[in-house]
Amino acid sequence: MKPVLAFLLLSTPAIAQVNVYTTRQPELIQPVIDAFTAETGIAVNLAFVDEGLVERLVAEGDRSPADLVMTVDIANLSQIVEAGVVQPVDSAVLDAAIPAELRAPDDTWFALTTRARVVFASKERVDPSEITTYEDLADPRWRGRICSRSGTNNYTLALLSAMIAHQGEDFAREWAAGLKANLARRPEGNDRAQVRAVWAGECDIALGNTYYMGQMLGNPEEREWAESVNVVFPRFEGGGTHVNVSGIAMTKAAPNREDALRLMEFLVSPEAQRIYAEVNFEYPVLAGAELSDLVASWGEVTPDTISLSEVAANRGTALRIMEEVDFDG
Ligand code: FE
Repeated sequence: MKPVLAFLLLSTPAIAQVNVYTTRQPELIQPVIDAFTAETGIAVNLAFVDEGLVERLVAEGDRSPADLVMTVDIANLSQIVEAGVVQPVDSAVLDAAIPAELRAPDDTWFALTTRARVVFASKERVDPSEITTYEDLADPRWRGRICSRSGTNNYTLALLSAMIAHQGEDFAREWAAGLKANLARRPEGNDRAQVRAVWAGECDIALGNTYYMGQMLGNPEEREWAESVNVVFPRFEGGGTHVNVSGIAMTKAAPNREDALRLMEFLVSPEAQRIYAEVNFEYPVLAGAELSDLVASWGEVTPDTISLSEVAANRGTALRIMEEVDFDG
């Protein structure tokens, strides 16, 4: 009897499940995952991987238990693709929900939310109408008035990469040099630290990602910083406001491919888009999906339509420019 029983147990279908590696804080992902499990009965195991995500996927290779990878920033998504650990996903649902510039042309990564790189401007010292374009931030009238994080940070490099795409390398170099000349202090700290510096009067404007406004407002220590600034959406001349993404990719190993695809497609549904974007203070990628009241209160964003693949391709040039102009020096 025993061997037969063992056989029966082995041939019983396993409980449906999907395994996700994520660099995002689990509490930011859990609500949307819970909604998926409630709707489909498919269990989702979230493994929070803080560092070494790519190395881990490479080391695990075909034996990786991970089906999906969720992370932020086009630089990180590109790095995963370049490491050869993900597979393309052919899905009419994903293609219909996500604008072409926010997914890989070869279907290897898909954006789930966007965040805009905006100006946080002192309510006391800057009229929002003074901020128009990113190009204008290099104008001498901002001399000594801007705070920025490091020029080699992913967010800064993506913005410069988009500037290269719009205006060409030579212009972008002049711009980076002009921006540096306008800095009130040497680049240091994260996006929130720049807003703190505006609050403290060290500078009048700073570049930062929109969701930090939501995070700061929810933090008693940082609330005052957030309340000292307006969110202003600059545009590229002839373009829109720079956006970056959080996104998802399917691993090459993907032991639960079918259910993983169901999760990917669920994540771009109106319900999931609303939940996911709201928890993170981000923008849904799905046209018409609801914004949180707070995010909507910052005003209308006209996202730039330069392809993020092009932004990713310019990263090396952007890094070289930052070194040439000694942005952090
Ligand atoms: Fe961030």
